Amino acid sequence: MKNKTGAVLVLSGPSGAGKSSLVNKIFKEIGECYFSISTTTRPIRDGEKDNVDYHFVSENEFKREIEADNFLEYAIVHGNYYGTSLKPVKEALSEGKLVIFDIDVQGNTAVKNRLGDITTSVFITPPTISELKERLTNRSTDSEDVIYRRLKMAKKEIQRISEYEFLIINDDLEKAARELKFVAMAARLKKPSEEINMFVQEWEDG
Ligand code: 5GP
Repeated sequence: MKNKTGAVLVLSGPSGAGKSSLVNKIFKEIGECYFSISTTTRPIRDGEKDNVDYHFVSENEFKREIEADNFLEYAIVHGNYYGTSLKPVKEALSEGKLVIFDIDVQGNTAVKNRLGDITTSVFITPPTISELKERLTNRSTDSEDVIYRRLKMAKKEIQRISEYEFLIINDDLEKAARELKFVAMAARLKKPSEEINMFVQEWEDG
């Protein structure tokens, strides 16, 4: 069976859960993939690079992109706009790649609605809220006020874990990376229904 359609892996979880570190750890071991770079209106943090971590834009630019229907999904998170551009995702999927998104729970719902049959979703979190607080504080990229808002948001997001197929508790980085690798490899095997129907047809004709 030809596999031209790629697949989608959605990662959600509080900022500070270690999503990017985990992806960086397994990136080379999961075959061809495309890590989607979101567009955001949030201010750039120390150590971040424009067009690498995010495409950082003004609110006006973001709104223009919404009007041009350029986003697969977008949402307001912690008071800032975040969105996933459709074009690079379509291209990567047509090249058969695994497209990885780091998006919030609203984004997961939207992606599931649009690309449900090729989407696998994982929620990643530190073991407890105190551990999350410690990580955010140690990262020292955010003010106390921002950390407080992120923790409040994390408490809300955690209530929606059941909307995800997998939960990874990032307590031990090696173990969590191993688990994510298995999930990413399984995600690749998801087939869109058209492909399955085609396979059944070819199988019967063969
Ligand atoms: P941060 O500001 O810490 O980089 O990200 C804050 C939150 O926004 C995280 O939960 C992250 O997953 C989410 N996020 C990042 N990009 C997108 C996006 O394109 N769409 C949605 N819906 N959420 C995003």
